[in-house]
Amino acid sequence: MNDRSDIIDLRSDTVTQPCTGMRQAMLEAEVGDDVYGEDPTVIALQKRVANDLGFEAALWCPTGTQANLVAMLAHCARGDEYLVGMEAHTYKYEGGGAAVLGSIQPQPIPQADDGTMDLGVVERAIKPIDPHFARTRLLCLENTWMGRALPLDYLADVRGLCDRRGLALHLDGARLYNAACASEVAPREITRHFDSVSVCLSKGLGAPAGSVLAGSAKLIDVTKRWRKVCGGGMRQVGILAAAGLYALDHNVTRLADDHARAARLAAGLRDVTSIRVDACHTNMVFIEVPADRLQALATHLEAHGIRASIGYLPQVRLVTHLDISDADIDRAIHVFQSFN
Ligand SMILES: *Cc1c(COP(=O)(O)O)cnc(C)c1O
Repeated sequence: MNDRSDIIDLRSDTVTQPCTGMRQAMLEAEVGDDVYGEDPTVIALQKRVANDLGFEAALWCPTGTQANLVAMLAHCARGDEYLVGMEAHTYKYEGGGAAVLGSIQPQPIPQADDGTMDLGVVERAIKPIDPHFARTRLLCLENTWMGRALPLDYLADVRGLCDRRGLALHLDGARLYNAACASEVAPREITRHFDSVSVCLSKGLGAPAGSVLAGSAKLIDVTKRWRKVCGGGMRQVGILAAAGLYALDHNVTRLADDHARAARLAAGLRDVTSIRVDACHTNMVFIEVPADRLQALATHLEAHGIRASIGYLPQVRLVTHLDISDADIDRAIHVFQSFN
């Protein structure tokens, strides 16, 4: 089971290998120095994402963490505050970057099981204009959240609140295309509510690296400076942008296959007595295992060449992606069924 090709890696949709077509597109990419704004492939990718999502401009960033960070740095100044879900990536999983690098204070807000925040609670967390308080400037959402697509009417309500209270609204859309697929709408129907949106090319879309931040021309201009400050100004990066363009052309509509496979995996696990399927949304399945059985499960999966994300969340997370086939799902179900 040590041969890589034998391992079924369900830890994350970040583990995909670029396919031959993507590698060919990278090989043939026209490139230039992107710090001088001269990389035609980066320019094409940025234009493509801005147009698709309904924004004036976009900026390629090496990671989603950096795309979110430069957005927060552009929306907020030192001593400002952003409101954010307590379990959100932009609060919990980005090393506190906005506070560390921007002196921007997070105000975490509890989230319901579906990822939404009570908008009354959000509104009461907005600080009065008073020297005692940080200045509340920004609200951040995440879609999908734990694999769930946020309800579209919730997005409209959040936009209404931000308009009423003068807040900017940022979307961590690392898995925006999964959300659009699950909600059966064009991505624009989600992004139209936001002032800025980051999308990951390196999750379900299968590129080796890269995220794109979209927003107004003015905002993107500011983020370009912050990206340089963060060390993210890169040179002939069209090689990676070409992978992103390939991903948008080939790997968006097929996300529905990942969602169907996750649903089939969840259905197959429902019969396994020692585990409980907690949730299955888009390409993610969450299972609960009694604490005293967790190590045994980890050992069992490892022995049978299955990788799962264990230890970051109370649940075990299984994620489908480009490199997971129907046969892999069958084998994974079989391995779980032999755990007792
Ligand atoms: C992966 C991810 C990001 C960005 O992560 P990077 O690894 O820095 O690209 C941001 N938000 C969410 C929800 C993510 O899953």
